[in-house]
Amino acid sequence: MSTRIETLEFQAEARQLLQLMVHSIYSDKDIFLRELISNASDALDKLRLESLVDKELQVDTSDLHIDLEVDREARTLTVRDNGIGMSRDDVVQLIGTIAKSGTAEILRKAKEARDATGSKDAAASPELIGQFGVGFYSTFMVADRVTLLTRRAGASGGTRWESSGEGTYVIEEIDDAPQGTAVTLHLKPEDTEDHLFDYTAEWKIREIVKRYSDFIAWPIRMATERTAQTATDADEADEAATGGAGAATTKVQTLNSMKALWARPRDEIDQAEYHELYRHLSHDWTDPLEIIHMKGEGLFEYEALLFIPSHAPLDLFAQDGKRGIQLYVKRVFIMDDCQALIPNYLRFVKGVVDAHDLSLNISREILQQDRQIQQVRRRLVKKVLSTIRHLQTDDAERYRTFWKEFGPVVKEGLLDDVGNQEAILDIVSVSSTRDPEQTTTLREYVDRMKDGQDDIYYMTGESRLMVEKSPHMEAFQARGYEVLILTDPVDEVWVERVAQFDGRPLRSIAKGQVDLDTADEKDSTEPEREQQKKDFAGLLSWLAQTLREEVKEVRLSSRLTTSPACLVGDTHDITPTLEKMYRAMGQNVPHPKRILELNPTHPLVSGLRKAHEQQDTDTASDVLGETAELLYGMALLAEGGELADPSRFTRILADRLANTL
Ligand code: ADP
Repeated sequence: MSTRIETLEFQAEARQLLQLMVHSIYSDKDIFLRELISNASDALDKLRLESLVDKELQVDTSDLHIDLEVDREARTLTVRDNGIGMSRDDVVQLIGTIAKSGTAEILRKAKEARDATGSKDAAASPELIGQFGVGFYSTFMVADRVTLLTRRAGASGGTRWESSGEGTYVIEEIDDAPQGTAVTLHLKPEDTEDHLFDYTAEWKIREIVKRYSDFIAWPIRMATERTAQTATDADEADEAATGGAGAATTKVQTLNSMKALWARPRDEIDQAEYHELYRHLSHDWTDPLEIIHMKGEGLFEYEALLFIPSHAPLDLFAQDGKRGIQLYVKRVFIMDDCQALIPNYLRFVKGVVDAHDLSLNISREILQQDRQIQQVRRRLVKKVLSTIRHLQTDDAERYRTFWKEFGPVVKEGLLDDVGNQEAILDIVSVSSTRDPEQTTTLREYVDRMKDGQDDIYYMTGESRLMVEKSPHMEAFQARGYEVLILTDPVDEVWVERVAQFDGRPLRSIAKGQVDLDTADEKDSTEPEREQQKKDFAGLLSWLAQTLREEVKEVRLSSRLTTSPACLVGDTHDITPTLEKMYRAMGQNVPHPKRILELNPTHPLVSGLRKAHEQQDTDTASDVLGETAELLYGMALLAEGGELADPSRFTRILADRLANTL
């Protein structure tokens, strides 16, 4: 029945791409099926669209589908669709050439990279491959001959195309092709070492379809073999075709779930469907806390369906923890753990982004640099942050759950995402001295600030108790100032980076000088201060000398009311907790000397001054020296620090106590 047969040459660039395919440019060969199914799915989309637009087109669109057919004996696999099909010219144009601009350049680089490794089988770098869709040609990774039979919808004649991927192809006009396209692969022998599997095996096909094409909107069907026993369980069967009596029967099954929920209008989806997809993506059996379904229109179209879980996964802080976004391109699964789409501090967000205009073969490296992907990422981040903000204002209970589970991770964003620092600060909530049961937002804190208070006061530490009872709190409590209590490890770091909130500086109460006096108060306290400075000058310099191994300065304090002494750091010194954290991580950080501050009104301090004055300076007494040590040790213990020599400290203390009895 055939009319014209022609042998044509592939365009030069197509030939090069084919060469790379035949010579294992790409190690994951399974993807050929993903590419064929994606082409078939596009063809079905196009037919549906065309039948809507072109009323003249007489085609039945009531049963559009993709069929996978295997012939184990002939070792062929056919991917058949009843979609738009191609005319002869289409085939020459679309299959015989590569139209994409820049392909030649990329191919040249890919070839160079491959040649440079000196191995024929070496996979070319994924960056290069990611720049073009390998598409139809990927079939030559697994097949040594490919036949394509196609008929354009509405046309009467069809086209048969065949090639072994080596420079030429044969094209033939035929009369009796069914509408749509069938691609038949004459498979290469199995070679698992080269990642060439048996692509006639049902399990392998199922696996690939499930992995890459589960959400394709059209049914992907296959005749599956069932023994007499399994055939009784007829639930999954769509249509049955009987084999020999008593022998294995075959049933046509749909392999994919087709549930691309994200592509459907929001108002048609019920909660249960969302929850089911969430379970599928996250393997988490509790319902998500929040669902974000969004659509990007314009130049770069995409759909995103994101879930905020209601509890933290166990590996939230694991070194190799993954991010929860999967990337799809037009319903075809591309990759898990898509780092380009979500920053690390939102790694707990699960979901899917389905972008319409990307190559199926895009690599992680290319994604990271893609401007449009970066834009999508920015939008996702904004949307997640604003969703949390809404939770915070509209549903305090759920916001609290969220913050308890994910707060420490979100705060990492204060370090990593400077552009969104304000938005993150808005959703942060922290403990404070105001109420042990309740956390506060920074906004609420600022709204409660007392007249004359300019700064936002905080203190970091290992536990609420340690911070709350630390001597540094005394003057602030005496004045009724609220202090934020920051005890997450990440708090130690972000407070160093965030200078202010709403124009109010953030100030550690354990660092730098504290001066809480108002201008009026200063007038009355200044003369007394000056006097104290003179009175204590001798003691301070003697103490600084005696404790020179431990502290860098000894000075009078205005933050103590009841304790004799405390230790403080300079504004940019690392805190003892942070130092401990670094050491726990195996990092050898320098141990900064601290500043010892004394409370001049405490009897121990005033007593020490008197004793020091009466002392003959030349005969420095051991007893006074030991008191200095005790004073320093107490300041260290009061803030939860560790003594360098606890047994010496307890011995001196025991001796002193014995003397008092
Ligand atoms: P890509 O899919 O990236 O465009 P391919 O090499 O896979 O690249 O395919 C080239 C073109 O051939 C497609 O864009 C499409 O127009 C056409 N094509 C491929 N497969 C089919 C099919 N099953 N039905 C109709 N057209 C197809």
